[in-house]
Amino acid sequence: AATLDVAWARRFVTLATETVVEHRVELSELDREIGDGDHGENLARGFTAVAAAVDGSSAETVGGVLKLVATTLMSTVGGAAGPLYGTAFLRAAKVSDAPEIDAEGVHTLLDAGLEGIVARGKANVGDKTMVDAWTPAVAAAQSSAASGASPAEVLRAAADAAQQGAVDTDPLVALKGRASYLGERSVGHRDPGAASSALLLDAAARAAQA
Ligand code: ADP
Ligand code: MG
Ligand code: MG
Repeated sequence: AATLDVAWARRFVTLATETVVEHRVELSELDREIGDGDHGENLARGFTAVAAAVDGSSAETVGGVLKLVATTLMSTVGGAAGPLYGTAFLRAAKVSDAPEIDAEGVHTLLDAGLEGIVARGKANVGDKTMVDAWTPAVAAAQSSAASGASPAEVLRAAADAAQQGAVDTDPLVALKGRASYLGERSVGHRDPGAASSALLLDAAARAAQA
């Protein structure tokens, strides 16, 4: 399809919830290596609440759904990831309150999400955080949209770039968040937030294929 609508946003919520629940142990194990071991549980709890909230809502735009994702994550996920993802979804919601989102709109939405994460967490590229998944994802979305790709193709490009970005956090020294307390000992481990960001963007891409 040439545009994404509220049905896409609802499918995204379903698939995102499934994937974080499915990967909850793996995400918490990544967090156990360089953090406090709760990232998977935090997101599984948060997205389970999100799915229930969105199911019970009459949201009629992408922005309406994403705003509910944001407020639910903020109230159910503690720690670093709740406010960071909450701000990302809130910023994305603000630029997606139209009935339909085209390929350039997908790039705009992802860019707004990244801006929210950076506004909230002040991490730079290379600090070994979720920013290292989102930054290449937004860049890939931008060039994909500029080349005339469909919204689904733009999301696929973003998701693949996010996954590579997550893999590329392995050799980095963490400079933000709990993992930064480990200094050099954070090297050789994947950032859990970058890994979960790649899973969420993959869910967004799969939701667009339907
Ligand atoms: P907590 O560390 O409070 O237990 P989580 O385990 O849920 O929170 O989330 C940890 C993830 O949050 C990290 O893997 C990292 O990706 C992300 N993160 C932490 N601090 C920042 C920050 N300042 N900017 C961006 N992302 C951050
Ligand atoms: Mg944690
Ligand atoms: Mg914690």
